[in-house]
Amino acid sequence: VIAFHNVDKWYGQFHALKNINLTIERGERLVICGPSGSGKSTLIRCINGLEQFNSGEITVEGQPLDKRHLRAIRGKVGMVFQHFNLFPHMTVLENLTLAPQRTLKMTQQDAQALAMEYLARVQIAHQADKFPSQLSGGQQQRVAIARSLCMKPDILLFDEPTSALDPEMIREVLDVMKELANEGMTMVCVTHEMGFARQVADRVVFMDEGEIVETAPPSQLFDSPQHPRTQQFLEQIL
Ligand code: ATP
Ligand code: MG
Repeated sequence: VIAFHNVDKWYGQFHALKNINLTIERGERLVICGPSGSGKSTLIRCINGLEQFNSGEITVEGQPLDKRHLRAIRGKVGMVFQHFNLFPHMTVLENLTLAPQRTLKMTQQDAQALAMEYLARVQIAHQADKFPSQLSGGQQQRVAIARSLCMKPDILLFDEPTSALDPEMIREVLDVMKELANEGMTMVCVTHEMGFARQVADRVVFMDEGEIVETAPPSQLFDSPQHPRTQQFLEQIL
């Protein structure tokens, strides 16, 4: 469903993605890990056009990611960020209903009904009229996930969704992500939550210095990494 073919990305003189080849199947749960600065965010931000790449090709459901298809692809790909990125001056409900009304042309009533359904699923329905600053980090992140779901994405991208959260809130966000995974959502997650990766991921990609060094099912990658760079990274974090 997502395919990278020989993708290279430069920030000026800096080679941020080096010849990336990767195919992510429909319904697959892919976890991307690697040291800081290895290109993880750059890679997933390329999937919905938040970053442009310099050469190679990315296709999403067969459509090349170019100017002509960018809008259509953005409509299929939701993204959840480390720092939630909720609109601070809008209530939770308004955060969820804005894009469905503007982009999907839903009526306010329909958008609100949909929003309440997803807020209930992430256990936040009773907070719908609050502003983001009145919620805990874990609650804000669950709102952000619900907001993405309101756009009915085929694919959800997560960029370190729990790394700005206090430990006691990480679990509630991971639980929502696990539920989505069980429902068959195609997910690409940058995360250092190895327990989550083991439980949920079909494959784990290890990146270093802009390259994909190793790709394997979690048990294989974590228990018997093949590449010395992977081994070294895992020794540091486990
Ligand atoms: P982290 O774990 O810290 O989030 P990452 O693996 O997500 O790291 P990226 O954010 O993809 O790494 O960045 C990869 C490299 O590209 C880094 O060396 C970073 O400094 C550089 N980089 C990222 N964004 C830009 C930019 N807009 N301009 C210049 N260099 C950038
Ligand atoms: Mg990053």
